Order: sequence, then structure tokens, then C-alpha cells
Amino acid sequence: MSLSCLALPRASPRPHTRAFRTYRRAPERSSRQITELLARYDTPVRPLNLRQLLSYGQPVTESSILESAAFVLHEIPRRLATRVRRLEGLPFIVGTNPFISNMLLAYRDSFQFLATYKPPTSLEENNTFAMELESLVENHANDIPTLAKGFKESSRYMSPEMASEFLDGAIRNRVSVRLIAEQHVALSRALGTPKADSIGIVDRRCSPRSMIDMCGSFVSQLSQATLGASPQVEIDGVTDATFPYVPVHLEYILTELLKNSFRASVEHHDGKADIPPVVVTISPPVPHSHGPKFLSLRIRDQGGGIAISNIPNIFSYAFTTAGYSADEDDGGGGPYAAQYVGGSAAIGSEGSGDSGNLFGEITSRGLQTGIGTIAGLGYGLPMSRLYTKYFGGDLQLKTLEGWGTDAYVKLRCLDEAVDARI
Ligand code: ADP
Ligand code: MG
Repeated sequence: MSLSCLALPRASPRPHTRAFRTYRRAPERSSRQITELLARYDTPVRPLNLRQLLSYGQPVTESSILESAAFVLHEIPRRLATRVRRLEGLPFIVGTNPFISNMLLAYRDSFQFLATYKPPTSLEENNTFAMELESLVENHANDIPTLAKGFKESSRYMSPEMASEFLDGAIRNRVSVRLIAEQHVALSRALGTPKADSIGIVDRRCSPRSMIDMCGSFVSQLSQATLGASPQVEIDGVTDATFPYVPVHLEYILTELLKNSFRASVEHHDGKADIPPVVVTISPPVPHSHGPKFLSLRIRDQGGGIAISNIPNIFSYAFTTAGYSADEDDGGGGPYAAQYVGGSAAIGSEGSGDSGNLFGEITSRGLQTGIGTIAGLGYGLPMSRLYTKYFGGDLQLKTLEGWGTDAYVKLRCLDEAVDARI
């Protein structure tokens, strides 16, 4: 099953549009020019007000589109400049890792491309710009797994805390850049075919129930193909609740949490005919003392729970118990070396249509089949929590050791009154 119907209409993977390609080959690109340009963006990135981002879609008009383009050209180069500086600030030896040094070059290119882009003044120019923007986002599709791989190879020179702090910043930055860019692309498309329930990439009537059905059926196929069995998903609570949210973010979170619950349930009930269902409970949107509303979900499984000794690590990047046996050691990576995804990881792509994963995936010795990876990347929990926190929500796990696990997902309603600083 493809989840692409839930995702933003995504451009099929394609080479860069002409301007970006030509630009990347331009011989006159000099590091001095970029350094000078970077100096102009040497101010801290202002938090982005979501209300402002959404304002260009209410309603979509030619002038709001052009304002949105100007906004993109104001905001994204600043964020790319921050990434360039952070990459340049890594310990020298880490910066010499080929994954990291290539990524720095790619960020410098993208930064210069946008920092010198002439703001579109007509819808026609904007169409070209929107295509360029999509291309640029695609060009960075593998950033997170690539970074993780570079860090893995440099683990002797970086503490796990330092790598994790860097990854947090990189992912948050990437979510913002992608949100700003895709909002503009979605609005540019909406001009021709407006959709009543969406403001660009925010769906005002996002239905947890249909997202759970959709993600559940995908994960169920994945589980059948990988583990040979799969539990049912039951949905209770306020099953018809809807709330304003970014569907692709919810899709990512639900897919990752369901994968974890499915795997735990199948493995814990190995060989038994009846696997207890995974039960997802939906709360109504609830206002928090004069503040914003939140909608919460609880994903409950009877997958045997999480060993107490593993609990401090489950939110660490690349921590996994999939494909791990006590004899294996991948030769580095800190105190849980054997349980971190190893250096033999192959890098997939976010355009692969796998689980709608926004960041691409690292495939390693994890549990995988042709249709995707059910576990073994160790990115599901940290990235899902980052997504929930991005708009001020949260993700917590509670476990009843020997019985099962509850994941509590709290999501902020992105209504008109939202004042999220992102
Ligand atoms: P991965 O699934 O790739 O291993 P995650 O970040 O999604 O990475 O999860 C990290 C680890 O947390 C898993 O390997 C597993 O040991 C543990 N875990 C997460 N969710 C559950 C669950 N519902 N039941 C049991 N263990 C879990
Ligand atoms: Mg997982």
C-alpha cells in the first residue's frame, strides 16, 4: 500500500531543474564568495511564527504567493547558513569524514543558491522557483542518515551526547526548512486547485482515525512480510475526532510507533495463534489552561514491555535491539556499541516510497524486506519525539515490564490561534 495519498504531493525523484544544475557546476563558485555571503547571514535565526507561515494561504492569491516566496527567500538561507556554520564547527577530524565533508559542500551550494536567488515577481517566475525549491529539498533527502553514518564512522572523536545534540539540531532545522519550502510549494499548487480543508500542508480536519487505519494497514503488511504475523489494530476513544495538523508528521509518528508495537507483539507472542491487538485510544482535543489545544493518542501493546536496563537508551539515536545478539560487536560507538546501528549501513532515500519516511532510512542488519524496514534503525523513537515536540507536543513511553508498553503522543492543534515558534 502506498501512503503517498496522505503525503504532500511529492515530485517524483528527478534530476535537478536546469538552473540549479547549472548553478552547481558554475566554475566561478568560490569559497570566498560564499564566506562573504555567509557573513551577511550571521544573525541568529528568528523563531518562525507558524501563524505567519499559514497567513499566506488565507486565502491564496497571486500577491500572497509572491509574499510567500519572499518569505521563503528570507527564512531558508538563514537556516541553511546555520547548518553550514554548525558543520564547519565540528571537530576538524570529524569534518574530514567524506560523508560530513560532502554534506557541508551540499549545504554551502544550497545556501548560496537561495541566498542569491532573485525573488519571483510573477506567477510564472514563481512556478520555476517552486520547482527549484522542491529540487533543493529532494537534494537533501538523505541528510539525516548520511550525517548519522558520518558520525558513526567518527564515533571515536565525538561523544554520543555531542552527536545526539548535533542530530537534534540538524533534524529540527531540516523539519523547518522542509515545512517552509513545502508550504510554499503547496500554496503555489493550491492557487489552481484550492482545497477547503487545508492551508498548504496543514490539514484543518486531520483525522487520527483514518491516519491510524492507513498506517496500520501498511505496518501490518510490513509485519506479515518481515515477521510472518501481525496483530490487529483496535481504535477506541473519540474515534471521529479531527484536529488541525500536518498529516505527514502524524504519518511518520504513527508508522514508527505501530512498527514498534507490532514487532514487540509478534516477537513476544512468538508461535502463539492469537496475538493481542494493539489498541489506539484517541482523546478529544483538549484546551490547556488558556493555552493551545492538544489532541492525545495512546498506543497500547502487549508486546512484553521494555527491559528496564534499556529504558535510558530508547530515545538515543541509533539505539536498537533489533538484529542484535550478544556476540555481535560493531567495534565502536560508545557504551552500547553492540546495540547501535553498525557502520555497514546502506543509505536509502526518502523518495523510496517506503513508509513515507521524511528523512530516508538507514538499512542495516535490521529486520527488513523489500517493502521496508520494521525495525533496526534506532531512529523511530527519537525522531517521533522530535516531531511531536516540534509544535510543542510530547511523546512518552511507559512500560509494564513483562507485559506491554504504552506510548503517549500529545499533539498540538495547529489552529488559527496558534502561536508556535518554530
Ligand atoms: P528500532 O525500532 O529501529 O529498534 P526505535 O527508536 O523505534 O528503533 O526503538 C528503539 C528500541 O526501543 C527498540 O529496538 C526496542 O528495543 C525498544 N522499543 C520501542 N518500542 C517498544 C515497544 N512498544 N515494545 C517493546 N520495546 C520497544
Ligand atoms: Mg522502531
